[in-house]
Amino acid sequence: MSITCFTVDVEDWFHVCGVSELPAISLDQWRVFDNTMHLLDLFDELDIRGTFFMLGVVAEAIPKLASRIAARGHEVASHGYSHQLVYEMTPEVFKEEVIRTGDLIAGQTGRAPVGFRAPQWSLGKFTPWAFEILAGEGYLYDSSCTPLPFIGNAKGPMSPYQILTTAGNLWEIPPLVTPTRFGNLPSGGGWGLRLLPVKTILEGVRNAHSSGNPAVCFLHPRDVDVDGPRLKLSLIKSFAAYGTRSSAMPVIRRLAMSGTSIPLLEMVKSWPSAY
Ligand SMILES: [Zn+2]
Repeated sequence: MSITCFTVDVEDWFHVCGVSELPAISLDQWRVFDNTMHLLDLFDELDIRGTFFMLGVVAEAIPKLASRIAARGHEVASHGYSHQLVYEMTPEVFKEEVIRTGDLIAGQTGRAPVGFRAPQWSLGKFTPWAFEILAGEGYLYDSSCTPLPFIGNAKGPMSPYQILTTAGNLWEIPPLVTPTRFGNLPSGGGWGLRLLPVKTILEGVRNAHSSGNPAVCFLHPRDVDVDGPRLKLSLIKSFAAYGTRSSAMPVIRRLAMSGTSIPLLEMVKSWPSAY
């Protein structure tokens, strides 16, 4: 069975990684609710059931959002609380964030999250304690380690694998990349999904499926907000966060045709026997 998993990091247009101090944006200028509703309608149309990694500050500010997502048949997982990079936190702060966001989601949806994704792939070999904390808090999987150069481990696995911790085992679910002779390209989401030729993205999907792997795509609500606002950033950062947003919708439609779409938790529970 060819599985294409759609994941959404539920954060707003100003939650950009690597910005030392995020500006204070009043709630009436937040666009995450409308943009997520837009994505939910698109997912209904395309028969996609996905995983939504809620940012804690968003869950706290807009309490109805997580329950709306869950009511439409999707999994609600955790994207941490503040959007701070994990390797810049102490283990104590990380644990507090995991618990705080987990409690918010459980209160709003009636179900505690068991999946986690760190902002900007910032959890990995420099933060082994984070895997222990997640397993200890009852999480079944993490999707924060990318097989990409610079921001991840270029030689990292492209299949789901287990991480053994003293608190229990955790599945690690890598996002989709397209291997090329220049290295792996980020075809599964972000600027890669918006900028790379569809042919290159689908090549990554075919490669994943023919290896028996799920193709794990990742989106943000701002990716489909074609004329949405931008933070003032350097040219490169601005492009990575906001560039070519008009490309995202057509690519999502094309990806939806590539396989059956189920939430990560369902995939993890049947992995690898069903594939
Ligand atoms: Zn994020």
